[in-house]
Amino acid sequence: MTSTDQALWLRVKDRLRAEVGEDIFSSWFARMELDGITDDTVKLSVPTRFLKSWIQSHYAEKLLACWQADHAAVARIELTMRSSVIRHLAPKPKPPEAPAHPSNFSDIKSGSGTLRGPTAPASAAHDALGGSPLDPRLTFDSFVVGRSNTLAHAAARQVAQGRRGDSVMFNPLFIHAGVGLGKTHLLQSLAWAGNATAERKVLYLTAERFMYGFVAALRTHNAIAFKETVRAIDVLMIDDLQFLQGKSMQAEFCHTLNALIDAGRQVVIASDRPPSDLETLEERVRSRLAGGLVVEMGSLGEELRLEILKSRLTAGRLMHPGFDVPAPVLAYIAKTVTHNGRDLEGALNRLLAHSKLTGQPITLEMAEREVRDLVRPMEPKRVKIEDIQRIVARQYNVSRADLLSSRRTANVVRPRQIAMFLAKTLTLRSLPEIGRRFGGRDHTTVLHAVRKIENLVHSDTALAEEIELLKRQLQE
Ligand code: ADP
Ligand code: MG
Repeated sequence: MTSTDQALWLRVKDRLRAEVGEDIFSSWFARMELDGITDDTVKLSVPTRFLKSWIQSHYAEKLLACWQADHAAVARIELTMRSSVIRHLAPKPKPPEAPAHPSNFSDIKSGSGTLRGPTAPASAAHDALGGSPLDPRLTFDSFVVGRSNTLAHAAARQVAQGRRGDSVMFNPLFIHAGVGLGKTHLLQSLAWAGNATAERKVLYLTAERFMYGFVAALRTHNAIAFKETVRAIDVLMIDDLQFLQGKSMQAEFCHTLNALIDAGRQVVIASDRPPSDLETLEERVRSRLAGGLVVEMGSLGEELRLEILKSRLTAGRLMHPGFDVPAPVLAYIAKTVTHNGRDLEGALNRLLAHSKLTGQPITLEMAEREVRDLVRPMEPKRVKIEDIQRIVARQYNVSRADLLSSRRTANVVRPRQIAMFLAKTLTLRSLPEIGRRFGGRDHTTVLHAVRKIENLVHSDTALAEEIELLKRQLQE
């Protein structure tokens, strides 16, 4: 892209900012980037699907007009979602909405062809407050407890038992886990449990809904009413907090959080990463989030997967009495299908589809064929910086404190550089974040270390092997 293009983009942004106002601009357009201009098409990208669809449905014309004002040849704007992070090693994660069924079963994708029951409306109070839709299947009853989620489950139960006016034990309750490990299930269970009593106002919002509600309120000059609504509730749950973005959104979130916590109301948050890793959030918000109880849910172990499958099957058989899956098939799925709860459901749905379409009983052989693509690939694990530090320290016989210290002796400097290099290549953390996690170093120091090791591995095969070995240990 040329510098003229960039200059043009700057002017367009200024124009846009003037048109929509600073608040809206920073909420929706601050992270938009120009990817290129070809003939009559401008290519822009934003980091999330939500931003993309929001901009497309609300600002498409305005955006085009702003471009045309400066560059009449522009006829079309192509808006795409860029991956917010560059994953060097990991394949792109599956989008959460990806249908679990193969497309040839599209005729039975929803409703009675799956294991999902008919959807009941959420409680009236929850709807009236503008809560996100609740899935009636996601309740405590259907949540299977195992080693990886015991603590999170117990904490959610504890919150669910609270009564209006009770003192709050941990606030906020912050649950983090990877995709498909039950965060939404747990939060919605809590919402159902709370709404069942009608005594407490329990509100479940996705971060997107939170942003949407707030902006909608801003635009109708009704921010005060919105704030009052939010602050009137007893338990506020925000799901997928990692999607919260924009300065004004953060400020509003922070306000809401503080107001609720100070008033002794319960806040429950779910996110795909711990507070310390929510890099786009300001430090004070992060520390407030970390100030309650932070619980991680690990990946679903085989035993837990089997229990989930069994409970799914029991529920499914209520609707499809003829549907049976022999125990060895369940065991096979539990053993081979990925850690992700969504794929488990997908696998069962396929078996159901198959048995409905063909009328044949389910066998191991057929199951192997049907779920082949869900079988766990060698998924690269989510590597943590702490693990890197621990394993590197062990390997080079130094302490983790040495790695974080300012000591500059050779026996510490090299392992430290290797650890920073691994942090950059195996995690999604930014350079400044890595610097912070390595004893508050500057991002340029991290960059230097990364480059240094990159260069060395080209010439030093022993080092290259050592690093490969470390990587393997970390990804096991
Ligand atoms: P997340 O929000 O963490 O991405 P979800 O809560 O949407 O994950 O879970 C994905 C699927 O796996 C859902 O169908 C959910 O019901 C199921 N699931 C995950 N964990 C459990 C569990 N412990 N017990 C029962 N079902 C689970
Ligand atoms: Mg979720």
